[in-house]
Amino acid sequence: MDAREKLGELSNLFASRRLVVVSNRLPYNPVRTSKGIRYVKGSGGLVTALDPILRLCNGLWIGWDGGTGPPMKEKRVAVSESDDEGSYQLRFVNLTEKEISHYYYSFSNRTLWPLFHNFIGMSHFNSAHWKTYFKTNAYFAGEILEEANPSDVIWVQDYHLCLVPNFIRYQHPELRPYFFLHTPFPPYDTFRVLPWRRPILEGLLGSEKIGFHVKNYADNFLDCVEKILNVPVDRKRGAIEVDGREVRVSSHPISIDYDAFRDIALTNRVTGRVQKHRSQIGDRIVILGVDRLDYTKGIKERLLAVERFLEKHGKFRHRILLIQVAVPSRTRVKEYRVMKREVDETIGRINGRFTGEGWPPIQYIYRSLSREELVAYYRLADIALITPGRDGMNLIAKEYVASQVDKKGVLILSEFAGAAEELTEALLVNPYDIETVSDAIYKAIRMSSAQKKRRMEKMQNLGSRWDIYCWVRDFFEGIE
Ligand code: ADP
Repeated sequence: MDAREKLGELSNLFASRRLVVVSNRLPYNPVRTSKGIRYVKGSGGLVTALDPILRLCNGLWIGWDGGTGPPMKEKRVAVSESDDEGSYQLRFVNLTEKEISHYYYSFSNRTLWPLFHNFIGMSHFNSAHWKTYFKTNAYFAGEILEEANPSDVIWVQDYHLCLVPNFIRYQHPELRPYFFLHTPFPPYDTFRVLPWRRPILEGLLGSEKIGFHVKNYADNFLDCVEKILNVPVDRKRGAIEVDGREVRVSSHPISIDYDAFRDIALTNRVTGRVQKHRSQIGDRIVILGVDRLDYTKGIKERLLAVERFLEKHGKFRHRILLIQVAVPSRTRVKEYRVMKREVDETIGRINGRFTGEGWPPIQYIYRSLSREELVAYYRLADIALITPGRDGMNLIAKEYVASQVDKKGVLILSEFAGAAEELTEALLVNPYDIETVSDAIYKAIRMSSAQKKRRMEKMQNLGSRWDIYCWVRDFFEGIE
């Protein structure tokens, strides 16, 4: 089934109802040009999957524009890719400086983000930030209530908006919000640390259905509801009885537009890029790391594992190259700036120690890449070293598999990434165990071509059968 057919199936689902997506950030960024303001589409998987569906059902996406473009005077605009493909509406939620600071950078990204990833020591608990998070979630809910009808399907996304479902339900019981969490949900012993654990759970329970990436996160959520709210849960059915209604809790692993990545990898332009890189690198073994620069991604431990590998295997000293690509992220948050400095220093130290024959062992690219550049690196890499300390899913791992059209690469993947549940043919490692990660690099180098191909094909079969379109369909399966 190609993307058009898959979309056709999905659009049947939304033929008689409008999809209203709500997320912190809108999928388009306003950019000022000489001809006025243009809306530039983001490249994430969620946008790729939902954009055509929204166009088909005249849908609506509500969110913040990120504050990077020109100030928006209009409340809503229509966006379309081309005249014949239909359009949908964006509704702008304007945030004040205080809201951006307290709701977004602080409570969302310095309290919930670390806590949900099990980094309790990184979590900051500040009641002023909580108050603004509460008010901003109420504000988002108000924006939705101005727009929504009972026949709409409202789909709220992610940890920034945990309180929104209950705000909606409370004010308009006929509306039925759905919710998906894109991060992990932590175990009870971690979550109970949060001073606002009750309202966060209650907020989410306003949903008709709450989706998580993997069963383990859904189970953690059910544990927390049972132990913190004292509400009985039905683990077998994934259901919670709240005020005489049922909230469903289930897992739906998100994926990527698999065919699109594979097709880009096969283009002449990407093939040309790969050949050019190869002619510069020669026959050195390319190990690739790609991440948003975030402390959950385990970049420092990964660098230490490569260093350990170089210490142990002298004969590979000038034969490997780690290309570490990092996208700048949340640079206003102190922990991210501290981490960036640590990564810079560690790379400098390792390169200082092991540079030889004119080659440093690590090449560091600190910027966002175009899709084509990224896919060329995926296709080039002999090894993808993807070792987050914790990750809700990790799409990089899936993108690497889809782009490995030559089937020569090996994926080394953290067992703490949601993707590890599906990508079992990867070499799964504990990212904190530096010694074992360095051994996995050796194992990957030594792996026979036949085994590499067999493992990669298995993962590709799975990837092509479970893509981003399947994820949307699966989430809404059985919707009345
Ligand atoms: P997270 O959502 O925490 O950032 P994921 O691995 O799930 O982590 O998704 C990261 C997304 O960001 C991927 O779709 C990937 O293609 C994209 N990305 C990562 N690094 C870069 C980069 N340097 N340039 C462009 N896109 C990138």
